[in-house]
Amino acid sequence: MTQHGTLIVTNARPWGGDRADVHIRDGVVTAVTPAGGVPPARPATAAATAGTPSEPRSPTAASAPPVLDAAGRLLLPSFSDAHVHLDSNRVGLPWRPNDSPGGVWPNVLHDRAHWRTAETSMAERARHLLGVLVAHGTTRVRSFAQIDADARLERFQAVRAAREHHRDRAEVQIVAFPQAGLLREPGVPDLMAKALEQGADVVGGIDPCALDGDPVRHLDIVFALAERFRVPVDIHLHEPGELGLFSLTKIMERTAALKMAGQVTVSHAFALAHLPEPELRQALERMAELDIAVTTCAPAAPHTLPLDRLTSAGLRVGLGDDGQRDYWSPYGNGDLLDRTWQLAFTNGFRNDPQVEQALAVATAGGARIVSAAAPRQGDGRHPGVSAGDPADFVLVDAEAPAAAVMDRPPGRTVIRRGRVVAVDLKLVDA
Ligand SMILES: [Zn+2]
Repeated sequence: MTQHGTLIVTNARPWGGDRADVHIRDGVVTAVTPAGGVPPARPATAAATAGTPSEPRSPTAASAPPVLDAAGRLLLPSFSDAHVHLDSNRVGLPWRPNDSPGGVWPNVLHDRAHWRTAETSMAERARHLLGVLVAHGTTRVRSFAQIDADARLERFQAVRAAREHHRDRAEVQIVAFPQAGLLREPGVPDLMAKALEQGADVVGGIDPCALDGDPVRHLDIVFALAERFRVPVDIHLHEPGELGLFSLTKIMERTAALKMAGQVTVSHAFALAHLPEPELRQALERMAELDIAVTTCAPAAPHTLPLDRLTSAGLRVGLGDDGQRDYWSPYGNGDLLDRTWQLAFTNGFRNDPQVEQALAVATAGGARIVSAAAPRQGDGRHPGVSAGDPADFVLVDAEAPAAAVMDRPPGRTVIRRGRVVAVDLKLVDA
């Protein structure tokens, strides 16, 4: 077992390139050298050939770093789930026929009627899903935690406990999220403040016009909490077309006034899928000036975001799993590589550079939104690995990056800060 995040990964193909050896110390990449410079590993067990590190090569080399032979696998930055609801999932539980009514408020009430009576506790469900995410290659997560008059802080505490349980396996940001609005029921802003006092990292908001019906008051509360606790903002924006553009404009005004450039994310941003020119171009230019990020969960048309337009405009874009097989929707399994396929498919991507763009968003793209230590971007579409990068990787048994997206193979080894944390979709005990 690797210790202290020190490891040499040999015979890996960063982003499908030539074989290389990646040297890691204290969880950070120190050098990337052509393959062949490191003596072959002596497999300690049969498992070593499946992607776990070897023992030191001889008793006299006991102080030498462990070696992991990637055997030609792709080496990708680990996945970044930039938008997931760990407190809204039934992953691993018996199938429940989906009878959700559709629409934000009806679904809020539907979830409210059922979430407490699942087969396992909310804390167990959140912990389980986070483990599934890691096992499939995600080591950076931004999770929402629902805060409303019904759940109060119970769901936030479940997500916080999941983060603590997996703290060595993943970096997790928690968004205090008013799923049922800030104004429809009493006491929600105070509960939001309590969550921020107790470890939430980001303040959330949702559909300022459509859900609360008072965009000014809604956004004033969100941005006042951001100022008070000095935290970033992440707002769900399902509002369509011109209505969504109106809310987006109000968000941009506050971002500028409070000098919060680089600190605001808009999730879903369906309006960007609906706007005609020149409104779309103008909105993207202003968002880029304010470094407002966008996260998407790869919805079907007509809400599919024009990914190429967003990244070409210079926006930071991340991919998320959203709720997973929950009381809202039957979709989701905790595998961000599956969601990457969906992102490519819904964008109509076919050629390798396009599919690789989706994969770059799912890995390094999301890291630039949710992590303090994101890997370097390269040209933004082919993230490689270089000295100084955090050693958060997934080795994938695939011929090329686009093949990984199409095949979604189970042969994966997940490395978090230089330690192997999962092999072949199963967590490795620390
Ligand atoms: Zn969401």
